[in-house]
Amino acid sequence: MESVLRSVIVPCRNAKLGCTENIPYGRDSNHEKKYCRFSLCSCPEIKECNYTGLYNEILFHYLVSHLLKPDCFFTFGEPRNVRMAINDKNLVLMTLPKTLLFVVQCFREPNGVYVALNSLAPLGPEVEKFSYRISYYFDGGTCSHKLPEMKRILEVSYQTPQDKNFMFVSNSLLCGEVLEMELCISEIK
Ligand SMILES: [Zn+2]
Ligand SMILES: [Zn+2]
Repeated sequence: MESVLRSVIVPCRNAKLGCTENIPYGRDSNHEKKYCRFSLCSCPEIKECNYTGLYNEILFHYLVSHLLKPDCFFTFGEPRNVRMAINDKNLVLMTLPKTLLFVVQCFREPNGVYVALNSLAPLGPEVEKFSYRISYYFDGGTCSHKLPEMKRILEVSYQTPQDKNFMFVSNSLLCGEVLEMELCISEIK
């Protein structure tokens, strides 16, 4: 009986939203958890807003529902300065040719600040890929972090990243509560 069930395939739970993938019944499916392009993403203002939507629709929600920061728009491939208060936690960036949201986050730890940049999207192969470089300038030097493929997340987390996808700025390099950074996001063709 069990082996019969194991061989049964069922539609992805996002079939109603348009997914045509089939997955093995009863098994944890990576497709449903991470890869399905119909997975719902949570609005990055997760503390005050409980909207969830498709990765390519969440930008429209954000534009009409949240206060935009004056410099939230960027152009692919062009370095730009970003000012972010460490306590702000989230800085949402967008670029209109793509209906996607990018989120810069700061995490304060006893030894310094971790800065991460992710795009809000599932891991599915249909979703566009981006690379980025982020730099923090201080008196006499630069901290930089480059990632050939930006991480994608379905919702922002307030847990300090456990992987290597962040820039670390140690306490001795901080000057005040605001980070002046340079950011460049590029499309991977
Ligand atoms: Zn699916
Ligand atoms: Zn929202």
